[in-house]
Amino acid sequence: MPDTAPLQTTSHPHSVEYFDVLIVGAGISGIGAAYHLTTQCPDKSLVVLENEETFGGTWWTHRYPGIRSDSDLHTFGYRFKPWRGAPIATAEEILSYMGEVIAENDLARHIRYRHHITHASWDSQTKLWTLEVLDKATGLPRRFTGKFLYMCQGYYRHRQGYMPEWPNMAAYQGQLVHSEEWPEGLDYTDKRVLVIGSGASAATIIPAMAAKAAHVVMLQRSPTFFRVGRNAIEIAEELRTLGVSEDWIHEITRRKILFEQDKFAKMSFSQPDKVKEALLDGIRGIVGQDYDIATHFTPRYRPWRQRVAFVPDGDLFHGIAQGKASVVTDEIERFSEKGVVTKSGRELAADIIVAATGFHLNVLGDIAFEIDGKPLDFHETVTYRGMMFTGIPNMVWVFGYFRASWTLRADLVGDFVCKLLKHMDATGKEQVEVALRPEDHNMPILPWIDPENFNPGYLMRGLHLLPQRGDKPEWMHNQDYWAEKDEFPKIDLNDAAFVYR
Ligand SMILES: Cc1cc2nc3c(=O)[nH]c(=O)nc-3n(C[C@H](O)[C@H](O)[C@H](O)COP(=O)(O)OP(=O)(O)OC[C@H]3O[C@@H](n4cnc5c(N)ncnc54)[C@H](O)[C@@H]3O)c2cc1C
Repeated sequence: MPDTAPLQTTSHPHSVEYFDVLIVGAGISGIGAAYHLTTQCPDKSLVVLENEETFGGTWWTHRYPGIRSDSDLHTFGYRFKPWRGAPIATAEEILSYMGEVIAENDLARHIRYRHHITHASWDSQTKLWTLEVLDKATGLPRRFTGKFLYMCQGYYRHRQGYMPEWPNMAAYQGQLVHSEEWPEGLDYTDKRVLVIGSGASAATIIPAMAAKAAHVVMLQRSPTFFRVGRNAIEIAEELRTLGVSEDWIHEITRRKILFEQDKFAKMSFSQPDKVKEALLDGIRGIVGQDYDIATHFTPRYRPWRQRVAFVPDGDLFHGIAQGKASVVTDEIERFSEKGVVTKSGRELAADIIVAATGFHLNVLGDIAFEIDGKPLDFHETVTYRGMMFTGIPNMVWVFGYFRASWTLRADLVGDFVCKLLKHMDATGKEQVEVALRPEDHNMPILPWIDPENFNPGYLMRGLHLLPQRGDKPEWMHNQDYWAEKDEFPKIDLNDAAFVYR
């Protein structure tokens, strides 16, 4: 649940403020949204409301050892702000980059920190959104109204990770922590550590902890795909040596990375076995030919059905090769006093168990939504290109890419919102919502994402909370940057899918 008590609905808001655009969240999406609005729609007033005490979202709330990106910062960074460092960046480096964006564009004046939004309601009479907010600094309720709601709340609940229930957990005498709720100052020097999970977080935590711990075991139910490579991009290094400007380096490097990612994604579908072998070869090259790659690093799914985590400089695998870390592929049967007992009957003793077991999906920021007095059931809606929803007026949300960097989509959505707002001004409309057109009425309505295409656990657990989709590109949440980069700028705002009032 949110980390603050819900607002007393009977209390009177201390103040009511109006802004043309209300942005929810000051993560990479929300700061990007503020940038796009101030540069492309400078006449719009805006406020960014953020629950935490500072900006950064994911990069601020995650505190586990070694926290870093798993995609390159040339594409995870904004298209408008060159990234100058190594492609895989620490949370601290990402926060510092975002801080520069805020300072260079004078965005701080738009942001209200420690503002926790609990309710959002749309009124078709006034054509306004009203947000009920708890100002955590004063404990007072506040109310914000605005014409347009720009949801940049991310996709998971911060500071409360997903912890599966295993039998006998209470018996464990050591320290159990979740990667999303890292205890400050946790000392793991010379400790035996067991990390449950093998996703991107586990792949980061293990080499970082292995440096100080006695030994780290990665316990996974099933293997994950990893890509090993140098934490450097040759073309960027070469252009820098040639004295090319950082703007150009950023643009050229982005194009090169995106070109290669596109090739990789396409090959994952057309030649999955070849891609699989190439990925496994990268690991084999470090852990050696004799290592049991078949058991520990050969996933049961096709590459790209889940995000392929990049392991910079192969640090996870060097840890394994050096004996500082090891992998157990098995299922937990129960916890014991000393650690966990697996289904094959092995007891894995540990002083610290780290659950890197994923997220709770957070749909619409855990905010209670109402449309004209009626509680919103988000699952009843159909998505327009994964950013607008039938029956929800004047609202866009940012849900980025998984196969490419999240921010690529945040930038595209930013352009779309600004184009939409300008169009509404030019045509004198105050309300827009998307609706199925006559030709869409026989369209099959499907779950939000096709599990055959992409199926991480938190999405599969939360499909019933997410909007639905159709089978036409405009009614789908597409994970294809390479198609959307051309399609988004051409969206026809006069199409019958957009209903204006
Ligand atoms: C550990 C980790 C590593 C990742 N690495 C990558 C990567 O390398 N590449 C990639 O593409 N993606 C990565 N992702 C996915 C990542 O979350 C996104 O790429 C991106 O950071 C999301 O940014 P965001 O601003 O949309 O959301 P978030 O970072 O989640 O920020 C949302 C903000 O909204 C605020 N908020 C939410 N609800 C409310 C509310 N009710 N009231 C007020 N404020 C609210 C939150 O406090 C938060 O600050 C990673 C995710 C994790 C957890």
